[in-house]
Amino acid sequence: MNAADKIIIAIDGFSSTGKSTIAKSLAKEIGYRYVDTGAMYRAVTLYAMTHDMISPDGNVSDRLIVDALSDIHVEFHIMPDGSQHTMLNDEDVEDRIRRLDVSSNVSAVAAIPEVRHALVKMQQEYGKEKGIVMDGRDIGTTVFPSAELKVFMTASAETRAQRRFKEMIEKGQQISFEEVLANVVHRDHVDQTRAESPLRRADDAIDLDNSEMSFDEQNAWMLARYREAIARTKVS
Ligand code: C5P
Repeated sequence: MNAADKIIIAIDGFSSTGKSTIAKSLAKEIGYRYVDTGAMYRAVTLYAMTHDMISPDGNVSDRLIVDALSDIHVEFHIMPDGSQHTMLNDEDVEDRIRRLDVSSNVSAVAAIPEVRHALVKMQQEYGKEKGIVMDGRDIGTTVFPSAELKVFMTASAETRAQRRFKEMIEKGQQISFEEVLANVVHRDHVDQTRAESPLRRADDAIDLDNSEMSFDEQNAWMLARYREAIARTKVS
């Protein structure tokens, strides 16, 4: 495909809707780059946790985090099997950032305006050449308001918590379903009510409620929306 035909695909939505699974699969299928913006907020949170900028009871020192921003380097490394790993100051933190302690603190860190400005700037750089699938909470509203395809994913909190719980148990984490559900509900609330680019469906986004959809059905749905978006950009 001609580089000029490439578009930006923004996938936003609530926690644990399966955005990254479907975004990764779409990117692979159409030969685009995938960027997981949640991993970037998680890596900054992990840095703050390991540098005593967040107390064990969840008290976040915004000022210390903002002052340290220039020391926090987040990158993605492509592994030999094609998967992407999140690197924090050259350390592979891919598994560590998915744990519940990071999940419990990440929404507070992601609400700090300076953190958002720094990460949004990096995300916009990734999209300069187009040909990108990016997932997060504010991709269609703030990072790429003119993305050619915007999808907003939802599913009930129970369905989402059930999926996350299964993933965590499979990874050997000791956790109860109630804890996972409480975390999902808490993150939804903080993400939707923060002052700086809250989680909001872009007016021109297409909804995808995947509560009752299989992975293959979601994949086919995404590919169809992608083809329509490409056809639209050729006409205009
Ligand atoms: O997508 P994931 O669940 O890994 O994101 C972790 C957290 O990072 C979210 O709950 C949200 O607080 C924050 N986030 C955000 N903006 C994004 C991506 C993630 O605020 N674009």
